[in-house]
Amino acid sequence: MSSVVIVGAGMGGLMAGNLLAKKGHKVAIFESHTMPGGYTAGFWRKGYYFESGTLSFEMASLIFPAMRDIGVYDKLQFVRQIARWVTPDYDFVMHSLDDMKKSILEAFPSERERLLKYFAEIDRMCGIYKGLEKPNTFLNKLTFPLRMSRFVNMVRKYGRMTSSEFAEMYFEKKSKVYFTFKDVGYPDMPAMVVPAAFMSFLDDYWTVKTGMQSWADVLAENFRKLGGELKLKSRVERILTKNGTATGVTCGGKDYMADYVLSACDYKKTFLNLLDDRSLLSDDFVEKIQNAAVSEGFFVVYLGLDIPREKMVEYLKVPHILYGDCNPPGPDMGDATDEKFFEKVWLSVYSPSLMNEDLAPRGKSSLMISCMVPLRWMNNWGGGDRKIYKELKEKAKKALIKRFSSIIPDLEKHIEFEDAATPLTYERYTGNSDGASSAWSWNPNKWFYNNPNSTTIDTPVKNLYISSCWAYEFGGIPTTVKAAYMCAKRIA
Ligand SMILES: Cc1cc2nc3c(=O)[nH]c(=O)nc-3n(C[C@H](O)[C@H](O)[C@H](O)COP(=O)(O)OP(=O)(O)OC[C@H]3O[C@@H](n4cnc5c(N)ncnc54)[C@H](O)[C@@H]3O)c2cc1C
Repeated sequence: MSSVVIVGAGMGGLMAGNLLAKKGHKVAIFESHTMPGGYTAGFWRKGYYFESGTLSFEMASLIFPAMRDIGVYDKLQFVRQIARWVTPDYDFVMHSLDDMKKSILEAFPSERERLLKYFAEIDRMCGIYKGLEKPNTFLNKLTFPLRMSRFVNMVRKYGRMTSSEFAEMYFEKKSKVYFTFKDVGYPDMPAMVVPAAFMSFLDDYWTVKTGMQSWADVLAENFRKLGGELKLKSRVERILTKNGTATGVTCGGKDYMADYVLSACDYKKTFLNLLDDRSLLSDDFVEKIQNAAVSEGFFVVYLGLDIPREKMVEYLKVPHILYGDCNPPGPDMGDATDEKFFEKVWLSVYSPSLMNEDLAPRGKSSLMISCMVPLRWMNNWGGGDRKIYKELKEKAKKALIKRFSSIIPDLEKHIEFEDAATPLTYERYTGNSDGASSAWSWNPNKWFYNNPNSTTIDTPVKNLYISSCWAYEFGGIPTTVKAAYMCAKRIA
């Protein structure tokens, strides 16, 4: 039996904690916040519940068995998240790829030929992904090398191409269809991820009916039942080492010694702020971390509304809407100086109370309007000036509320509670650098790892492992869970 200290009680820390405690190890998780969950969490204000980070996750084939593995699956109500796409040209609920194709083809008859070519390539790539998921039968084993070689060819062709470059192969840059397809997910993510994003969105997009905080709470409770110690309001100040090996952490000025330390928090801060001995890292490694680009953060408006549920059903139809009421080509996500950014960007709109009426007071509704933001927008939201920060935040909030008033008439008049979060808010609550929403940049020109398709839990420090979304180029709940499993396996 080993002793393990975990820094952070997000999905990565909680999953690793559960797996290791189940194996009989002595595990303590240190979490700086008052609640467990990190980005898999939520909060209540004036009777309204809002998600603090992720709304949904994909790869149920990995997540559900993981929850069964630690014995919590039956305590959670996983439900499908289905999105509606709305622009001035089309409006459909995305039940299937065919629904989507039909609606887009109807909306843009003059683009028919280009669209058909684009969809044909998407279909072909989806087929390659599905080919890899086939059950492990004798016949499938025989054909696996062929299916794998198709996948490898796709990675060669599209791994380093961005989603914008992919869209440009088919559509005019100023066209509305280009605007629709250039960023299907993260800006300039690899083209090879585009079909996977469609497939997830259509068949494999899930949420927790009672809110993400309930997921974190169930994991935390289970961890404690397994004998683990969860220390909330306990920010780790130092990761301790001796002779190049991690030996514990310092928290509240006190040292807690352990055989292993898992970083389940921000990667950059783990090495640049927490590690007690910088000489264990090569100059190249430090420079690489310092300069590495992270994924875009979010701006989110939280609204408590005096609108009854029946009315919200009429306005929204489903809890989740992707809303693009602006003119192509949309904003440049690389331009942090664009003052009008919030008037141009796609919005993701979610009503927790439409997913579950218990998440708002009776007769009322909750709404979150969010979008990705260029890294360090407007001199990182005012260059540290509180007054400018508040002004920028207020202006962005107003812009988003105004835009969504075309779906909910007089939205502003129905507001009973309002607040907003910037990437700086996210960083303050979770420690993630620049409010990075899913670890490193998805852009293939800025990757941190040489191989973006593998999970890297090892670090230059012996017995210090990464059990967070930062172990993979593209963060997210599935990749975080994978990292936790690898850490648990490594600690025998
Ligand atoms: C708006 C948004 C939308 C998203 N959408 C999706 C999606 O659709 N699908 C998907 O799969 N993923 C999505 N994600 C990403 C996903 O939520 C994350 O990748 C995942 O939850 C990360 O988990 P983690 O445990 O690695 O880190 P985190 O959740 O960031 O947890 C880190 C924890 O460490 C704590 N901590 C930090 N420093 C210290 C310290 N020094 N001492 C103690 N504790 C510390 C923090 O307080 C935090 O609780 C989204 C994220 C956001 C923000």
